[in-house]
Amino acid sequence: MIVVVSGPGGVGKGTVVRELVAHDPQLWLSRSWTTREPRPGEDPEAYVFVDRPAFEAHIARDGFLEWAEFLGDLYGTPVPDRHGDSDLLLEIDVQGAAQVVRRHPDALLILLVAPSDDEQRHRLETRGDSPDQVASRMAKATEEVAAGRQLGAIEVVNDDLGATVDRLEALIAARRQEY
Ligand code: 5GP
Repeated sequence: MIVVVSGPGGVGKGTVVRELVAHDPQLWLSRSWTTREPRPGEDPEAYVFVDRPAFEAHIARDGFLEWAEFLGDLYGTPVPDRHGDSDLLLEIDVQGAAQVVRRHPDALLILLVAPSDDEQRHRLETRGDSPDQVASRMAKATEEVAAGRQLGAIEVVNDDLGATVDRLEALIAARRQEY
């Protein structure tokens, strides 16, 4: 099974997926590639950081399950080489989610949204995005939420981390029963 957690920047997707993985050994979190520069203080393992030619060469080799350009940088999920019996967990933008759903219509698609614009802006500011990045990510958020809804994603408001993780675990458990 594939679980996709999508939604705008600053809604807390990263924290939520880390919690899911910590609680559920059956989930296997894919590590994305990006051409974005690491943020100051960002975990060097957060992504495979590559330059554009390396990313494009990987596209040419059909090395991505999906990829998308997001605010000028490329992001992609490498084709999973081995995740055994695990369920694949992806934390990706809405354009990437659309590609996954096209290839895997039975994927569980979750759209995480912030409780308010103020909260979202605050999260972007405190994780080290520049003022320009905060402004462009906020402007893009409305469009991303609309696109996620169009895909028929299950929308979850992330106002309390524990409650959000519980809700996602319940959705995953319910979907597993269908398999
Ligand atoms: P950030 O620069 O904030 O780390 O990520 C920007 C956006 O790209 C976020 O919405 C994040 O979820 C998304 N993203 C991260 N990895 C991937 C990926 O592999 N594919 C796609 N399509 N989006 C990704």
